[in-house]
Amino acid sequence: MSKDSTRSGFVAVVGRPNSGKSSLLNFLAREKIAMVSHKANATRKRLNIIIVHKNAQIIFVDTPGLHHKEKLLNQFMLQEALKAMGDSDLIIFLADVRDSLDEYEKFLELSDKDHILVITKMDMLSNDKGFEQIAQYQKYQDRYKALIPFSITKGFGEYDLLDVISQNLPLSPFFYDSDISTTEQYKDLYKELIRESIFENLSDEIPYESDVVIKKVDENQDIEHIIAQIVVEKESQKGMIIGKGGATIKRVGIVARKKIEELTREQVFLKLSVVVKKGWSKNKKNLEEMGYRI
Ligand code: GDP
Repeated sequence: MSKDSTRSGFVAVVGRPNSGKSSLLNFLAREKIAMVSHKANATRKRLNIIIVHKNAQIIFVDTPGLHHKEKLLNQFMLQEALKAMGDSDLIIFLADVRDSLDEYEKFLELSDKDHILVITKMDMLSNDKGFEQIAQYQKYQDRYKALIPFSITKGFGEYDLLDVISQNLPLSPFFYDSDISTTEQYKDLYKELIRESIFENLSDEIPYESDVVIKKVDENQDIEHIIAQIVVEKESQKGMIIGKGGATIKRVGIVARKKIEELTREQVFLKLSVVVKKGWSKNKKNLEEMGYRI
């Protein structure tokens, strides 16, 4: 393929928490890379997912949901989302088909970059109701490049979405070797998968007040060794993560290890421990140590 005929660029995926960003990226990448969770705020750090579609290389940048809360961690997430939007060539804005137009209108105030509007979870409403919702967005048709109805459950919208994204990227040689599927280090992916296991195995507030630090990845063993620490705010949370006789942390570890093995397609050894760092989510220095740029 000649360089002149290819397109390549960064695409920021934005929308309120739970609008379906991670699910859409996972669906497109068909590889479990971005984190999917039933709880808001699960995606904290940006992950890049690269897809080649026809003549285009699309680099998706996953962003935390756009929202406005006081906690430093949430400010960080908002900043990351805005930064990703600023750095990108194109934005995809996701709106749950059941949402009012408020979120989209807020987004229009924040950014005048080229964007594609994706209405997600179309399967959640009847056809008539779904199309009524879509019709409401049409008053903004001068603002968006395209409006794509999308449903993962029903499996539609994918091809149209990849087509319009490709057409709207700048003419450019590919940014990455075509065989690289993610620009993030595997360490970051391990961290996300361990966090995902914490979300799945513990109830509500613990996952939000915990984080994971990958201390060491040792490949010079028969099987790869991953040493990770779960950081929590309070002693009581440490107890809950460890569980009776260590049962909970064991379960978290097994689920996380399976997720990692699914990703690497190799056996790994995962060692998890828990440490208490009081006030870490409010403490800038700790956040920076954990790899968040503030
Ligand atoms: P994010 O916070 O924006 O990344 O949202 P998620 O990808 O975590 O999705 C939030 C919830 O919506 C999850 O429970 C998903 O399973 C669900 N979801 C995502 N896409 C669809 C869809 O097309 N149809 C249905 N029915 N549910 C979906």
